[in-house]
Amino acid sequence: MEKELTAFLNYRKRQDLFRKTKEVTKLGSSRIKVGGCIYCDLSSNDYLGLSSHPKIKASLQRGADVVSASSASALVSGYTDIHCKLEESIADFKSKEDAIVLGTGWQTNVGVIDALLSAKDAIFCDRLSHASILDGARLSGARLFRFRHNDSDHLRTLLKKHRGKYKKAMVVTESVFSMDGDLAPLEDIVEIKKDFDFLLMVDEAHATGLFGENGAGVVNEKKLCAEVDLIMGTFSKALAGFGAYVATSKKIKHFLVNACRSYIYSTALPPALVSSNLESLEIVQKERHRADELLKMVSIFRKQLEREGFQVKGSTQIVPIILGETKKVIEVSKELQSKFWWVVPVRPPTVPKNISRIRISLTYDHDLEQLNRFKEDLIRSVR
Ligand SMILES: *Cc1c(COP(=O)(O)O)cnc(C)c1O
Repeated sequence: MEKELTAFLNYRKRQDLFRKTKEVTKLGSSRIKVGGCIYCDLSSNDYLGLSSHPKIKASLQRGADVVSASSASALVSGYTDIHCKLEESIADFKSKEDAIVLGTGWQTNVGVIDALLSAKDAIFCDRLSHASILDGARLSGARLFRFRHNDSDHLRTLLKKHRGKYKKAMVVTESVFSMDGDLAPLEDIVEIKKDFDFLLMVDEAHATGLFGENGAGVVNEKKLCAEVDLIMGTFSKALAGFGAYVATSKKIKHFLVNACRSYIYSTALPPALVSSNLESLEIVQKERHRADELLKMVSIFRKQLEREGFQVKGSTQIVPIILGETKKVIEVSKELQSKFWWVVPVRPPTVPKNISRIRISLTYDHDLEQLNRFKEDLIRSVR
């Protein structure tokens, strides 16, 4: 065992793929302190800057006033009145009949996919799908087909060839992709649904709070709420909380309450988090200027990078700047860190070889003047 672990770790080191955690002190929503130095955080998912919102902090306190923990799973006694209210609010927000709230996004994708599919079934996932979606697929035992990223023609071809051999089928995609920052062709996938029988699940982890009417997400923006059977999302990104959910039909929700193991065998979210999740749902709907201003800044900054000749993927607040070789990306991110920009290199196995990148995420707490300085430093460090 010992030998095997050492060999694995040494291999990772030789390939520049060795990872370790770094201790960070948060100094507000866009500044962090690491190893005694203060950085501008360009890696955060706190897109709307809600993590330092006074109303969210107050709601955490309110939620913990009586007890600090739910101390049981939902089916035992962990499902309180505010858990119920949170599910109703999510269902409303996402324009679905009902919703179910779970511990994390990872738990949600793994548990929901595993519950709905078995070895007789097939699952078709975008090739860039989040690890939790693939883990759910593997755990379920369903046959896994991966279609080329955002390639709905490839999805159609795979369905044509294989759908008939399996009992149930599911198609899963993200709406905003976490590594490429681009949008899925949801209209095309919904069109394909007219010709093949499958459940459609969309992960809106990076879209919720930003896109669509009131921040409800891309599925809402494209008016496809009725066609998407399971709209999944997390509270841990733009909503600056913790936990996740699936908005779906009443029937599927009841099924999940009875069959989703990561729901049944895990403690319900603590009341403080439920309370802050409720508050952040209100804030994203009331304070639309946060998303509006952020998305305006995103579009200006992306154009500026392109004008400088950078290869930038996608179209959203997630801005992947492709630099190629893993070594180069590591060098550039070290250089940028020495100038107090907190950026992390994204490299294999997270993304394919040779398209390693610096992935920055823009938030409401950044401004264009600051991003301009970042751009100048980036230009200097790639040369
Ligand atoms: C972050 C993320 C998850 C996992 O959510 P957690 O609440 O952090 O476990 C799932 N899907 C996507 C696309 C994500 O980006």
